Amino acid sequence: MSAFEKLVKHAKKIDNFQHLGAICGWDMAAMMPSGGSQARAEAMAELNVHIHHLNTKPELTDLFAEAEAENLSEQQKWELRELKRSWQNANVLPADLVEAASLANAKCEHAWRSQRPDNDWQGFEKNFREVVKLSREEAQIRAEATGQTPYDAMLGLYEPGTSSASLDTLFDDVKTWLPKLVDDVLEKQKSESLVIPQGNFSTTSQKALGLDVMKLLQFNFDNGRLDQSVHPFCGGVPTDVRITTRYDESDFAQSLMGIVHETGHARYEQGLPKSLAGTPAGTARSMGIHESQSLFFEMQVGRSAPFIARLADLAGKHFAEHDAAIFDKDNFQKLYTRVKKDYIRVDADELTYPAHVILRYEIERDLINGVIEHTDIPELWDQKMQAYLGLTTKGNYKNGCMQDIHWTDGAFGYFPSYTLGAMYAAQYMAVMKQTVDVESVIASGDLSPIFQWLEQNIWSKGSLLSTDDLITQATGETLNAAFFKEHLTNRYLG
Ligand SMILES: [Zn+2]
Repeated sequence: MSAFEKLVKHAKKIDNFQHLGAICGWDMAAMMPSGGSQARAEAMAELNVHIHHLNTKPELTDLFAEAEAENLSEQQKWELRELKRSWQNANVLPADLVEAASLANAKCEHAWRSQRPDNDWQGFEKNFREVVKLSREEAQIRAEATGQTPYDAMLGLYEPGTSSASLDTLFDDVKTWLPKLVDDVLEKQKSESLVIPQGNFSTTSQKALGLDVMKLLQFNFDNGRLDQSVHPFCGGVPTDVRITTRYDESDFAQSLMGIVHETGHARYEQGLPKSLAGTPAGTARSMGIHESQSLFFEMQVGRSAPFIARLADLAGKHFAEHDAAIFDKDNFQKLYTRVKKDYIRVDADELTYPAHVILRYEIERDLINGVIEHTDIPELWDQKMQAYLGLTTKGNYKNGCMQDIHWTDGAFGYFPSYTLGAMYAAQYMAVMKQTVDVESVIASGDLSPIFQWLEQNIWSKGSLLSTDDLITQATGETLNAAFFKEHLTNRYLG
């Protein structure tokens, strides 16, 4: 067996344990009774120690050196690069830093759960200080290993190949046109009236509707399922994808579109190259590309006029006892394209969402690079909210800088993925429309040509290309924010 083959075999071994962790993680969120949490946490910690042990086996260093000298095909060379990247990411940090960070993050997150509703920045700041200190140490070590700035090294964990220099260019462009676009759209929507769903939409009917929509989106039920959890997510493994949603019986709208979103994540996982299963090259390219699939489903397909019409029709059938005016397709369109300047990112609409992301990106970039201190955050948050959305968060920490879980866990560098995904999705759609008659395909109810395009250009590539090459091969150019601007302008002012 060659060194390369040994490395692939070892990666599959690690993947098998990660498989079990993923299904256990889903079970914790969707099924497990609360009394199981202590023992499960211990079992998961033990599993993670074992995975870490496998990742740090000393003989791997020599195997990588040997494999690099072997006569490999172009694809194998790329597979090896991905194997090495994943190995280095897992190995570069000293064990005592990993342990200290995991304790500090857990402490900060746990306390945050009650400090946030209490608007207790002073209390939060005491724990958060340690999270920032250790995250900066991590970023510094990763920066030295990769030759990047500290923030870019963290960003690379989620978006390999993307730099803050390129994000600055993209986001600075968005900032020149987004605030005015939001104001223009609000002005336009001021006079529109809509019928808002109210009343009792049973969980049973909502689930049946969700499953119908998943079928329309060709979710493969032999390789996945839909369940419930407090925070919706897409988990599991490519052959057994677990998506979840949360039902609110007074309103079906958010859960329904949430299912469309998670189905996008799921179909990417289900469509990853089977020949590379269990190896890093067979996984999703980046968090931004993952989000580009969920947002392609949710924003590009899901909010298009013909899809909205189908959705309205299906919902009307499942909720036949309710006011039919809700399920009028124009009403549905308005319902799903309503814009509002508001404080909370997770509740934000498509148009204001990038402002929430850019604000966080600018703060975390400067925080990790040591340009600002964590005590500057509330003031900066307020300034940027005023500049981008005209809202003040002075003294309002719970709906300001304390609203997200990400930073409490030391997940710096993740936020840009959301808006990168929205931008990639707009670019795919613009290019897809050159060869696929998207509107009539959706109207026909057989969306196969859309999924074939995604499968061919995105899903089947796994991590065999860099993000830039993936986007260039699929769309003819690297990421270009102009597609996003055009999409938003057409949808909201067209
Ligand atoms: Zn998502």
